[in-house]
Amino acid sequence: MPWCDPCEKNWTPSSVGADGRCPTCSGPLEGTPGVDHEPVHTPWHFWVGVAAAGGYLLWRLIQAILAVF
Ligand SMILES: [Zn+2]
Repeated sequence: MPWCDPCEKNWTPSSVGADGRCPTCSGPLEGTPGVDHEPVHTPWHFWVGVAAAGGYLLWRLIQAILAVF
C-alpha cells in the first residue's frame, strides 16, 4: 500500500498518479509498485539462520532416530 509520510495517508494504487507520487503533496510514496526499483535481496544472515535451523532440525531428527534403537 503506497504510504505518504507528510500526509500520513495510505493511498490505493489506483489513486496514485502514473509517476507514483502523492496526489496531494506530490511527495514520494513508500511501497509504491514500479517506483521502488531496489531489487529484493535476501540478506546473507537469513540463509545462515536457515542453515542453522536446518542443521538443528537434522540433528534432532538423528537423535530421535537413534533414541528408537
Ligand atoms: Zn502526500
